[in-house]
Amino acid sequence: MPEIKAAVCRQFGAPLTIETVTLAAPAMGEVEVTLKACAICHSDISYIDGGWGGTLPAVYGHEAAGHVSAVGAGVRGIAVGDPVVVTLIRACGTCPSCAGGKPVACESDMASGPLTDATGAALHQAMNTGGFAERVVVDQSQVVKLSDGIAMEAASLLACGVITGVGAVVNAAGLRAGQDVVVIGAGGVGLNAIQGARIAGARRIIAVDMSEEKLAIAKEFGATDGVLATSEKPWRAAKKAIGRGADAVFVTVGAIPAYDTAPQYLANGGKVIMVGMPHSGAMSTYEPVMLAATGQGMVGSKMGDVVITRDIPWMVDLYEQGRLKLDELISGRWTLEQINEAIADTKTGSAKRNVIVFD
Ligand SMILES: [Zn+2]
Ligand SMILES: [Zn+2]
Repeated sequence: MPEIKAAVCRQFGAPLTIETVTLAAPAMGEVEVTLKACAICHSDISYIDGGWGGTLPAVYGHEAAGHVSAVGAGVRGIAVGDPVVVTLIRACGTCPSCAGGKPVACESDMASGPLTDATGAALHQAMNTGGFAERVVVDQSQVVKLSDGIAMEAASLLACGVITGVGAVVNAAGLRAGQDVVVIGAGGVGLNAIQGARIAGARRIIAVDMSEEKLAIAKEFGATDGVLATSEKPWRAAKKAIGRGADAVFVTVGAIPAYDTAPQYLANGGKVIMVGMPHSGAMSTYEPVMLAATGQGMVGSKMGDVVITRDIPWMVDLYEQGRLKLDELISGRWTLEQINEAIADTKTGSAKRNVIVFD
């Protein structure tokens, strides 16, 4: 069993510690991937800060790409040496959700525990991945084979932020060409909802954010207009730009005020797509009568409702054609030893995606 370096969380809110840990060989249906890149997602930070509870000690990190370095028995279609994206979406393929085409909502408990620390104690493989480590062992349902030649740093972003944002538009909202959208939050997921809306042919794409700088970046990704969230009743400016309310409003941040005000941006019949994840226990309020009276709706979207083997390959194609921006999402590259600095930089809010790069 290989010994690898991993960033371990032993206490919520404390810095991660770089430790030598043991990774079990892939069991039936599992693959081992030697990582080249793992991006830092706000979900990792919410967990590390204790916002969602969970088991400790743990290895976080779930936005990864690398090369397959071993396969367990019964693995089909994936071989040693293949470049792959590693996602947290572990799916059994046979439960009602999987069979119904929604593997992100898989109902089977497929927990596995390939990680142990230097004393032999179990380490929790957070979000089915444990990607802040040199290697991971995951279920074969979590990986998608890539063509040779794609940069691994760009590919890693397809594991979470990109599929969550683009998928919210094309899968959860089912956006049609010509519809108008508002995207609240122009961070890692928001920028991808924006470029998803551009790809889907949206008419107006209004970015709403607290920062002028982020609104400027949003325009590079396809936003037609930017509205400062700090302005008074920002939905008024958004509706003025559209000429009416939006057909779809994407909340891509976990801030409760963003959720409380999201319905204000809607046109009659429009939908709020809830993507951002507040800490456990946080509550939002809205007026049910407004939704009922105008046929509006609110719907949650997990991981962009993607089917990874269907959706990641077309996103790779669009990237290679220059129609989906990935490289432009990367704001910093860091080593595993620098992970606490990379996390601190992500928390400042000015970063797009910080990526841990492995030799
Ligand atoms: Zn994520
Ligand atoms: Zn399932």
